[in-house]
Amino acid sequence: MNALRKLRRGIGQIELVALPRPVPQSGEVLVAVRCAGICGTDLHIRHDMYSNLQPPVTLGHEFSGVVAEVGADVCSWQTGDRVTVESAAAFCGHCDHCRRGDTQRCPQRQAFGISKDGAFAHYVVARQEALHCLPGHVSFQEAAMTEPLAVAVHAVMERSCLCRGQVALVTGPGTIGQLVVQVARAAGARVVLSGTARDRDRLELARRLGADHIVFSDQQDVCGAVDLITGGNGADAAFECAGITAAVRDCLASVRKGGEVVQVGLTGRNIELCYDSICLKEITLKGSFTHNHQTWAKAVALLAESNVDLGPLISGEFPMEEWQQAFDLCEKGAGLKYLLYPNANSLEG
Ligand SMILES: [Zn+2]
Ligand SMILES: [Zn+2]
Repeated sequence: MNALRKLRRGIGQIELVALPRPVPQSGEVLVAVRCAGICGTDLHIRHDMYSNLQPPVTLGHEFSGVVAEVGADVCSWQTGDRVTVESAAAFCGHCDHCRRGDTQRCPQRQAFGISKDGAFAHYVVARQEALHCLPGHVSFQEAAMTEPLAVAVHAVMERSCLCRGQVALVTGPGTIGQLVVQVARAAGARVVLSGTARDRDRLELARRLGADHIVFSDQQDVCGAVDLITGGNGADAAFECAGITAAVRDCLASVRKGGEVVQVGLTGRNIELCYDSICLKEITLKGSFTHNHQTWAKAVALLAESNVDLGPLISGEFPMEEWQQAFDLCEKGAGLKYLLYPNANSLEG
Protein backbone atom coordinates (compact mmCIF):
# COMPACT_ATOMS: atom_id res chain seq x y z
CA MET A 1 0.00 0.00 0.00
CA ASN A 2 1.04 3.64 -0.40
CA ALA A 3 1.60 5.82 2.64
CA LEU A 4 2.57 9.47 3.05
CA ARG A 5 5.34 9.40 5.65
CA LYS A 6 7.55 11.78 7.56
CA LEU A 7 10.81 9.85 7.24
CA ARG A 8 12.99 11.76 9.69
CA ARG A 9 13.13 15.09 11.57
CA GLY A 10 13.92 18.18 9.51
CA ILE A 11 12.07 20.48 7.12
CA GLY A 12 10.18 18.50 4.48
CA GLN A 13 11.32 14.84 4.69
CA ILE A 14 7.79 13.77 3.67
CA GLU A 15 7.45 11.16 0.92
CA LEU A 16 4.91 8.82 -0.56
CA VAL A 17 6.37 5.35 0.03
CA ALA A 18 5.25 1.74 -0.51
CA LEU A 19 4.66 -0.26 2.67
CA PRO A 20 3.25 -3.74 3.28
CA ARG A 21 -0.46 -3.78 4.11
CA PRO A 22 -0.65 -3.90 7.94
CA VAL A 23 -2.21 -6.90 9.67
CA PRO A 24 -4.65 -6.23 12.54
CA GLN A 25 -3.67 -7.98 15.77
CA SER A 26 -5.99 -9.16 18.53
CA GLY A 27 -8.52 -6.43 19.37
CA GLU A 28 -7.56 -4.38 16.32
CA VAL A 29 -9.37 -3.48 13.11
CA LEU A 30 -7.94 -2.71 9.66
CA VAL A 31 -9.68 0.31 8.15
CA ALA A 32 -9.50 1.17 4.42
CA VAL A 33 -9.24 4.97 4.51
CA ARG A 34 -11.77 6.86 2.37
CA CYS A 35 -11.03 10.50 3.29
CA ALA A 36 -8.44 12.10 5.51
CA GLY A 37 -8.27 15.78 6.43
CA ILE A 38 -5.12 17.90 6.43
CA CYS A 39 -4.72 19.80 9.69
CA GLY A 40 -2.46 22.57 10.99
CA THR A 41 -0.54 19.87 12.84
CA ASP A 42 0.43 18.27 9.50
CA LEU A 43 1.77 21.63 8.29
CA HIS A 44 3.78 22.05 11.49
CA ILE A 45 5.19 18.55 10.97
CA ARG A 46 6.14 19.49 7.40
CA HIS A 47 8.17 22.41 8.77
CA ASP A 48 9.68 20.42 11.65
CA MET A 49 7.81 22.52 14.20
CA TYR A 50 6.23 19.62 16.08
CA SER A 51 8.44 18.30 18.85
CA ASN A 52 6.45 15.19 19.86
CA LEU A 53 6.73 13.61 16.44
CA GLN A 54 8.23 10.13 16.31
CA PRO A 55 9.39 9.54 12.72
CA PRO A 56 9.38 7.52 10.61
CA VAL A 57 5.59 7.71 10.82
CA THR A 58 2.66 7.83 8.40
CA LEU A 59 0.85 11.19 8.77
CA GLY A 60 -2.92 11.80 9.03
CA HIS A 61 -5.18 11.77 12.10
CA GLU A 62 -8.59 13.00 10.83
CA PHE A 63 -10.27 10.27 8.80
CA SER A 64 -13.16 8.05 7.84
CA GLY A 65 -13.20 4.67 6.13
CA VAL A 66 -14.56 1.18 5.82
CA VAL A 67 -13.64 -1.85 7.95
CA ALA A 68 -11.50 -4.09 5.70
CA GLU A 69 -10.45 -6.81 8.15
CA VAL A 70 -10.85 -7.58 11.85
CA GLY A 71 -8.27 -9.15 14.18
CA ALA A 72 -8.94 -11.89 16.73
CA ASP A 73 -11.33 -11.02 19.60
CA VAL A 74 -13.14 -8.33 17.61
CA CYS A 75 -16.85 -9.03 17.72
CA SER A 76 -18.57 -5.67 17.32
CA TRP A 77 -17.16 -4.76 13.88
CA GLN A 78 -17.56 -6.41 10.49
CA THR A 79 -16.00 -5.98 7.08
CA GLY A 80 -17.81 -3.19 5.24
CA ASP A 81 -18.83 -1.15 8.31
CA ARG A 82 -18.57 2.62 7.64
CA VAL A 83 -16.61 4.26 10.44
CA THR A 84 -14.79 7.26 11.79
CA VAL A 85 -11.89 6.63 14.15
CA GLU A 86 -10.67 8.46 17.26
CA SER A 87 -7.28 10.05 16.70
CA ALA A 88 -5.96 8.63 20.00
CA ALA A 89 -4.26 5.49 18.70
CA ALA A 90 -3.40 4.32 22.23
CA PHE A 91 -3.37 5.30 25.91
CA CYS A 92 -2.34 3.34 29.01
CA GLY A 93 -5.83 2.64 30.35
CA HIS A 94 -4.74 2.44 34.01
CA CYS A 95 -3.42 5.87 35.04
CA ASP A 96 -5.66 8.11 37.12
CA HIS A 97 -6.68 10.15 34.05
CA CYS A 98 -7.57 7.10 31.99
CA ARG A 99 -9.60 5.66 34.87
CA ARG A 100 -11.59 8.90 35.04
CA GLY A 101 -12.19 8.72 31.28
CA ASP A 102 -9.94 11.74 30.64
CA THR A 103 -7.72 9.79 28.27
CA GLN A 104 -6.67 13.05 26.58
CA ARG A 105 -4.56 13.66 29.71
CA CYS A 106 -2.84 10.25 29.72
CA PRO A 107 0.96 10.67 29.69
CA GLN A 108 1.20 7.57 27.48
CA ARG A 109 -1.34 8.83 24.93
CA GLN A 110 -0.29 8.15 21.35
CA ALA A 111 -1.89 9.82 18.36
CA PHE A 112 -2.25 8.67 14.78
CA GLY A 113 0.02 10.58 12.45
CA ILE A 114 2.36 11.63 15.26
CA SER A 115 3.59 8.57 17.14
CA LYS A 116 1.51 5.84 15.41
CA ASP A 117 1.06 5.25 11.69
CA GLY A 118 -1.88 7.37 10.56
CA ALA A 119 -4.43 7.71 7.81
CA PHE A 120 -2.59 9.20 4.82
CA ALA A 121 -2.36 5.60 3.63
CA HIS A 122 -4.53 2.98 1.96
CA TYR A 123 -5.04 1.28 5.33
CA VAL A 124 -4.69 2.12 9.00
CA VAL A 125 -4.85 -0.25 11.99
CA ALA A 126 -6.90 0.95 14.98
CA ARG A 127 -7.96 -0.46 18.37
CA GLN A 128 -11.56 -1.66 18.13
CA GLU A 129 -12.78 0.74 20.87
CA ALA A 130 -11.65 3.74 18.78
CA LEU A 131 -14.16 3.14 15.98
CA HIS A 132 -17.52 4.90 15.73
CA CYS A 133 -20.25 3.74 13.36
CA LEU A 134 -21.36 6.35 10.81
CA PRO A 135 -25.07 7.10 10.49
CA GLY A 136 -26.17 6.28 6.93
CA HIS A 137 -26.71 9.89 5.86
CA VAL A 138 -23.29 11.10 7.06
CA SER A 139 -20.82 11.21 4.15
CA PHE A 140 -17.22 10.01 4.41
CA GLN A 141 -16.20 13.63 3.78
CA GLU A 142 -18.14 14.98 6.78
CA ALA A 143 -17.06 12.01 8.89
CA ALA A 144 -13.39 12.79 8.21
CA MET A 145 -14.04 16.04 10.12
CA THR A 146 -15.25 14.30 13.29
CA GLU A 147 -11.84 14.90 14.90
CA PRO A 148 -11.90 18.72 14.67
CA LEU A 149 -15.62 18.60 15.54
CA ALA A 150 -14.70 16.66 18.70
CA VAL A 151 -12.16 19.38 19.58
CA ALA A 152 -15.06 21.88 19.45
CA VAL A 153 -17.41 19.59 21.38
CA HIS A 154 -14.84 19.15 24.15
CA ALA A 155 -14.34 22.93 24.42
CA VAL A 156 -18.03 23.88 24.41
CA MET A 157 -19.86 20.89 25.91
CA GLU A 158 -17.25 19.49 28.29
CA ARG A 159 -14.92 22.31 29.34
CA SER A 160 -17.35 25.25 29.41
CA CYS A 161 -20.68 25.73 31.18
CA LEU A 162 -22.26 27.48 28.17
CA CYS A 163 -26.01 27.01 28.10
CA ARG A 164 -29.10 28.00 26.15
CA GLY A 165 -29.71 31.74 25.90
CA GLN A 166 -26.15 32.75 26.77
CA VAL A 167 -23.75 34.70 24.56
CA ALA A 168 -20.43 33.24 23.43
CA LEU A 169 -17.51 35.03 21.83
CA VAL A 170 -15.38 32.91 19.49
CA THR A 171 -12.07 34.32 18.25
CA GLY A 172 -10.61 33.03 14.98
CA PRO A 173 -12.69 31.73 12.04
CA GLY A 174 -10.42 28.79 11.12
CA THR A 175 -11.77 25.24 11.06
CA ILE A 176 -11.83 24.90 14.85
CA GLY A 177 -13.37 28.36 15.33
CA GLN A 178 -16.08 27.56 12.76
CA LEU A 179 -16.87 24.29 14.53
CA VAL A 180 -16.94 25.94 17.96
CA VAL A 181 -19.45 28.44 16.53
CA GLN A 182 -21.64 25.59 15.28
CA VAL A 183 -21.46 23.58 18.52
CA ALA A 184 -22.20 26.69 20.60
CA ARG A 185 -25.21 27.38 18.36
CA ALA A 186 -26.32 23.76 18.76
CA ALA A 187 -26.10 24.33 22.54
CA GLY A 188 -28.56 27.22 22.15
CA ALA A 189 -26.14 30.11 22.61
CA ARG A 190 -25.94 33.33 20.59
CA VAL A 191 -22.50 33.56 19.01
CA VAL A 192 -20.20 36.48 18.17
CA LEU A 193 -17.25 35.51 15.95
CA SER A 194 -14.19 37.73 15.52
CA GLY A 195 -11.51 37.70 12.85
CA THR A 196 -9.48 40.12 10.75
CA ALA A 197 -10.36 41.71 7.40
CA ARG A 198 -8.17 39.01 5.82
CA ASP A 199 -10.69 36.47 7.15
CA ARG A 200 -13.66 38.16 5.45
CA ASP A 201 -14.72 35.09 3.42
CA ARG A 202 -14.43 32.76 6.42
CA LEU A 203 -16.39 35.17 8.61
CA GLU A 204 -19.15 35.44 5.99
CA LEU A 205 -19.25 31.64 5.72
CA ALA A 206 -19.62 31.38 9.50
CA ARG A 207 -22.48 33.88 9.38
CA ARG A 208 -24.26 31.73 6.77
CA LEU A 209 -23.67 28.67 8.99
CA GLY A 210 -25.02 30.20 12.18
CA ALA A 211 -22.82 32.93 13.72
CA ASP A 212 -25.20 35.65 14.92
CA HIS A 213 -22.66 38.49 14.73
CA ILE A 214 -19.25 38.89 13.11
CA VAL A 215 -16.66 41.43 14.25
CA PHE A 216 -13.54 42.59 12.40
CA SER A 217 -10.98 42.68 15.18
CA ASP A 218 -8.55 44.85 13.21
CA GLN A 219 -11.23 47.47 12.46
CA GLN A 220 -13.46 47.38 15.53
CA ASP A 221 -12.93 47.08 19.26
CA VAL A 222 -14.11 43.51 19.95
CA CYS A 223 -14.97 44.23 23.58
CA GLY A 224 -17.02 47.29 22.53
CA ALA A 225 -18.87 45.25 19.91
CA VAL A 226 -19.66 42.52 22.44
CA ASP A 227 -20.89 45.16 24.90
CA LEU A 228 -23.26 46.57 22.26
CA ILE A 229 -24.63 43.10 21.55
CA THR A 230 -25.02 42.18 25.24
CA GLY A 231 -26.29 45.52 26.54
CA GLY A 232 -23.00 46.12 28.33
CA ASN A 233 -22.93 42.80 30.17
CA GLY A 234 -20.17 41.08 28.21
CA ALA A 235 -20.07 37.53 26.89
CA ASP A 236 -20.88 34.63 29.21
CA ALA A 237 -18.06 32.58 27.69
CA ALA A 238 -15.23 33.21 25.26
CA PHE A 239 -13.53 30.51 23.20
CA GLU A 240 -10.07 31.50 22.01
CA CYS A 241 -9.46 29.63 18.74
CA ALA A 242 -7.01 31.96 16.98
CA GLY A 243 -3.90 31.30 19.05
CA ILE A 244 -2.74 34.91 18.89
CA THR A 245 -2.08 37.36 21.71
CA ALA A 246 -4.60 39.99 20.56
CA ALA A 247 -7.37 37.38 20.55
CA VAL A 248 -6.52 36.13 24.05
CA ARG A 249 -6.71 39.77 25.23
CA ASP A 250 -10.06 40.24 23.45
CA CYS A 251 -11.43 37.19 25.25
CA LEU A 252 -10.36 38.40 28.72
CA ALA A 253 -11.70 41.90 27.97
CA SER A 254 -15.02 40.75 26.48
CA VAL A 255 -16.28 38.21 29.03
CA ARG A 256 -18.60 39.42 31.74
CA LYS A 257 -17.63 39.39 35.40
CA GLY A 258 -17.85 35.78 36.51
CA GLY A 259 -17.59 34.62 32.89
CA GLU A 260 -15.26 32.00 31.52
CA VAL A 261 -12.49 31.91 28.93
CA VAL A 262 -11.65 28.59 27.27
CA GLN A 263 -8.26 28.46 25.55
CA VAL A 264 -8.52 26.18 22.50
CA GLY A 265 -5.77 27.59 20.27
CA LEU A 266 -2.03 27.38 20.91
CA THR A 267 0.03 30.55 20.67
CA GLY A 268 3.39 28.76 20.56
CA ARG A 269 5.06 31.48 22.64
CA ASN A 270 4.98 33.30 25.98
CA ILE A 271 2.52 36.19 25.79
CA GLU A 272 1.80 39.30 27.84
CA LEU A 273 -1.71 39.71 29.24
CA CYS A 274 -3.70 41.80 31.68
CA TYR A 275 -3.53 38.90 34.12
CA ASP A 276 -5.17 40.91 36.92
CA SER A 277 -8.44 40.92 34.97
CA ILE A 278 -8.81 37.22 35.86
CA CYS A 279 -8.84 38.23 39.53
CA LEU A 280 -10.76 41.50 39.24
CA LYS A 281 -13.52 40.06 37.04
CA GLU A 282 -13.52 36.62 38.68
CA ILE A 283 -12.92 35.00 35.30
CA THR A 284 -12.64 31.23 35.09
CA LEU A 285 -9.83 30.40 32.68
CA LYS A 286 -9.71 26.85 31.32
CA GLY A 287 -7.65 24.95 28.77
CA SER A 288 -9.27 22.57 26.32
CA PHE A 289 -7.09 19.90 24.71
CA THR A 290 -8.29 17.33 22.16
CA HIS A 291 -11.03 14.91 23.29
CA ASN A 292 -11.86 11.49 24.71
CA HIS A 293 -14.23 8.62 23.91
CA GLN A 294 -17.28 10.38 25.36
CA THR A 295 -16.52 13.49 23.31
CA TRP A 296 -16.48 11.44 20.10
CA ALA A 297 -19.83 9.88 20.95
CA LYS A 298 -21.28 13.40 21.34
CA ALA A 299 -19.67 14.58 18.09
CA VAL A 300 -21.09 11.62 16.16
CA ALA A 301 -24.50 12.31 17.74
CA LEU A 302 -24.34 15.93 16.48
CA LEU A 303 -23.60 14.56 12.99
CA ALA A 304 -26.39 11.99 13.28
CA GLU A 305 -28.91 14.66 14.27
CA SER A 306 -27.64 17.02 11.54
CA ASN A 307 -27.07 19.68 14.19
CA VAL A 308 -23.88 20.80 12.46
CA ASP A 309 -23.14 21.47 8.80
CA LEU A 310 -19.59 20.41 7.94
CA GLY A 311 -19.78 20.14 4.14
CA PRO A 312 -19.34 23.90 3.49
CA LEU A 313 -16.06 23.86 5.47
CA ILE A 314 -14.45 21.55 2.88
CA SER A 315 -12.45 23.73 0.48
CA GLY A 316 -10.78 21.13 -1.72
CA GLU A 317 -10.34 17.39 -2.31
CA PHE A 318 -7.27 15.70 -3.77
CA PRO A 319 -6.01 12.18 -4.49
CA MET A 320 -3.22 11.44 -1.99
CA GLU A 321 -0.63 11.57 -4.81
CA GLU A 322 -1.32 15.33 -5.08
CA TRP A 323 -0.61 15.91 -1.39
CA GLN A 324 1.95 18.66 -2.03
CA GLN A 325 -0.56 20.79 -3.89
CA ALA A 326 -3.08 20.29 -1.08
CA PHE A 327 -0.55 21.10 1.66
CA ASP A 328 0.52 24.24 -0.27
CA LEU A 329 -3.09 25.44 -0.51
CA CYS A 330 -3.56 24.90 3.23
CA GLU A 331 -0.44 26.91 3.96
CA LYS A 332 -1.65 29.81 1.84
CA GLY A 333 -4.53 30.08 4.30
CA ALA A 334 -7.00 29.92 1.44
CA GLY A 335 -10.15 28.10 2.48
CA LEU A 336 -10.59 25.82 5.47
CA LYS A 337 -10.40 22.03 5.29
CA TYR A 338 -8.67 20.09 2.53
CA LEU A 339 -9.20 16.34 2.18
CA LEU A 340 -6.94 13.65 0.74
CA TYR A 341 -8.23 10.44 -0.83
CA PRO A 342 -5.63 7.73 -0.18
CA ASN A 343 -7.52 5.14 -2.24
CA ALA A 344 -8.62 7.36 -5.14
CA ASN A 345 -6.20 5.80 -7.63
CA SER A 346 -5.95 2.40 -6.02
CA LEU A 347 -7.32 -0.84 -7.44
CA GLU A 348 -7.37 -2.27 -3.93
CA GLY A 349 -10.37 -0.02 -3.15
ZN1 LIG B 1 -6.10 17.85 13.48
ZN1 LIG C 1 -3.40 6.63 31.01
